[in-house]
Amino acid sequence: MLVSELKPDDEIIGSLQGDTRVFLVGCNGCASACETGGAEHLPAVRRMLEQAGKAVTDSTVVDFLCDKSLVRSRLRPFTSQIMDSDSVLVVTCGVGVQCVADSVLKRVRPACNTINQGGSRGTWPGAERCAECGDCLLDSTGGICPITNCSKNMVNGPCGGTTPQGNCEVDRERDCGWHLIYERLKDLDELDKITEIVPAKKYGNYLPSYDVMTSRHWAVDVPVAEGEQDE
Ligand code: SF4
Ligand code: SF4
Repeated sequence: MLVSELKPDDEIIGSLQGDTRVFLVGCNGCASACETGGAEHLPAVRRMLEQAGKAVTDSTVVDFLCDKSLVRSRLRPFTSQIMDSDSVLVVTCGVGVQCVADSVLKRVRPACNTINQGGSRGTWPGAERCAECGDCLLDSTGGICPITNCSKNMVNGPCGGTTPQGNCEVDRERDCGWHLIYERLKDLDELDKITEIVPAKKYGNYLPSYDVMTSRHWAVDVPVAEGEQDE
């Protein structure tokens, strides 16, 4: 399971600056269990948007936003509403946001941060990956995660080693994540985002919470201390 928590309202509204018409997408999978983006949670997000002066063009909830084929088939009936919106606000984990971003040529904003739980991520069939960094940046990168798509986890642009063909200098079989981000932002007419400076990330967020690290489930993964082996 991927654990999501809603970003503060002002951060969500800040990411929608300049967007007046917003399409809302939720997820009935992990996000529903986390009480962030399930069908019963979207009305509160919708109210918050409307109170901030945004027009919600429509909304839908997909069973598993991490399944891209499902996302594409479920969003297809909403094509006109999505294209009539300035952006799509996605209320779920970083994988779901990336799946939506790869499925619609529209600006996609994350409403949640994805929180590290130290494992138990399950699997998903698509190429989208989330490192559960706890401070989602997908709003400024065209919906492509710089942490999982860049070999060096660069968050403020490429390292300078991208090949002329747009491959990564660390692994030339792989696209440079920042080349992908550049091309996506260009398609979205949002290239100005590439010059925004992302503050230093809090790497402490990459660790699970104290509650998780002191849980029984966590404890079974800790090697038995040498002294205890003889008891
Ligand atoms: S920026 Fe990447 S790693 Fe961080 S929450 Fe978003 S998708 Fe996950
Ligand atoms: S070439 Fe691109 S993907 Fe590779 S490390 Fe540099 S910025 Fe990251």
